[in-house]
Amino acid sequence: MKEVFNFSAGPAMLPKEVMEKAQSEFTNWRDLGCSVMEVSHRGKDFIEIAAKAEQDLRELLSIPSNYHVLFTHGGGRGQFAAVPLNLSKADDTSLHLVSGSWSKGAVDEANKYNRAVVVGQVSEKDGLHYIAPPQLSDIDQSAAYYHFCPNETVDGIAFDWLPESGKVPLVSDMSSTILSQPLDVAKHGVIYAGAQKNIGPSGLSVVIVREDLVGKARKETPSIFDYALAAKSDSMYNTPPTFSWYLAGLVFEWLKDMGGVDAMAKRNAEKAALLYSAIDSSDFYSSKVHPDNRSKMNVPFHLANAELDGLFLKQSQEAGLLALKGHRSVGGMRASIYNAMPVEGIVALVEFMREFERVNG
Ligand SMILES: *Cc1c(COP(=O)(O)O)cnc(C)c1O
Repeated sequence: MKEVFNFSAGPAMLPKEVMEKAQSEFTNWRDLGCSVMEVSHRGKDFIEIAAKAEQDLRELLSIPSNYHVLFTHGGGRGQFAAVPLNLSKADDTSLHLVSGSWSKGAVDEANKYNRAVVVGQVSEKDGLHYIAPPQLSDIDQSAAYYHFCPNETVDGIAFDWLPESGKVPLVSDMSSTILSQPLDVAKHGVIYAGAQKNIGPSGLSVVIVREDLVGKARKETPSIFDYALAAKSDSMYNTPPTFSWYLAGLVFEWLKDMGGVDAMAKRNAEKAALLYSAIDSSDFYSSKVHPDNRSKMNVPFHLANAELDGLFLKQSQEAGLLALKGHRSVGGMRASIYNAMPVEGIVALVEFMREFERVNG
């Protein structure tokens, strides 16, 4: 099989070593004669790897002991609803920083359950998309929580500052950036992430929630979304997505072998710098995001002549560079370069871009 590099935004590529390990034990896991996806989640073998996955994640992100780690269903969007149900009453206000389409989605969902107020959004600086930190003085201290998304997967907009919230708990949608760099968990009330970008296969989401925010869910909260029930039952109130959980555990082991999130941050910065410098050094390609807010995980870029988009996509795919089509709301191209993408993938993409420009520029 020809080597390919998969730039899909999600579900996204997983580390080759992880896929090979999963393959090697696919039909005979732990010498049980069957697959990990065919055994009870309440059996000793599964409980062992489930607990190890949690422990490894705690180590990787230095998660303090007063935080629960939950493995749940429902993806990122499930948490758009679970957060308001667990953290607010119907007449409470929730605050939202809207940095792109996912944080906007969280506003729309929260509005079903509380009163969502937007405290900041994307503006322009030097003609490029830019987001400024909202002032603390504009943050309603009686709000139930303050939601933000530090890496917008569709728009490629990211910021490395933490919003100032005073005493209002911060809730962060880290679906496309968790584990890509170190993180100060203690500054957050809730961190959540759908797995299919930087953790493992879809079907799983990880929720990291501070103890004092657990146990306040509204009466009408579906039991499977109630943080307290999930915490009390070690995320096994109902059958969890066992195969995704297992694979996430393999990814956590891989991350530890790779040197953890510090090593990942270094590698991710290198990868992003390579790609953005290719974009910036040519008039043929451009980025619409201000350098202060460029995502290191999702890199949208545009060809000066959009009529060449189709040819670029066709030839890049033929060259083994998959899934570079930009999100339909943004157009152009997007390269998603999560933890699992090796530097060689970026080098191959940049070489392809240069050659494409030479022939068509
Ligand atoms: C993909 C994504 C989501 C939605 O995840 P689902 O698992 O499809 O619900 C939410 N937020 C961000 C930042 C994402 O990248």
